[in-house]
Amino acid sequence: MKKVLVSSCLLGNAVRYDGCHKAISHSLLFQWQKEGRIVAICPEVAGGLPIPRSPAEIIDARVVDCTGEDVTNAFDLGAQLALKLCQQHDISVAILKESSPSCGSSHVYDGNFSGTTVSGEGVTTKLLRQHGVSVFNESQLEQAAACLR
Ligand code: SF4
Repeated sequence: MKKVLVSSCLLGNAVRYDGCHKAISHSLLFQWQKEGRIVAICPEVAGGLPIPRSPAEIIDARVVDCTGEDVTNAFDLGAQLALKLCQQHDISVAILKESSPSCGSSHVYDGNFSGTTVSGEGVTTKLLRQHGVSVFNESQLEQAAACLR
């Protein structure tokens, strides 16, 4: 059975910048977990960033945290490790947390740390899509399941 890459925070792991998680409860997710089909990653932690960490946003193709530190390299490394996982497990579908500068698939924050989102995709989502992985957000599990079929 095909595996699915899922943002670690959506699975209840406290890996977010604020030390919290964003667990979702959905029958499809439970089914995939039971079937052993889920591969989890937090690209930001995989890329070497700590928990907690300063929130970061995409600004002019770089990723900068709210203290002004450029964290692009860590985000790029996390994206590459996510891609490697997909290649190792022959994964072509991912469910990633919307609006994150790593995992966002339709929207990301606008770079002003004002809480405003704009159309766009995170660093990991962009790399995965460039390599043919279909990326969905946490509200699109049915679409992801259809894609898996
Ligand atoms: Fe969740 Fe992705 Fe942010 Fe990690 S990088 S906390 S998996 S949204």
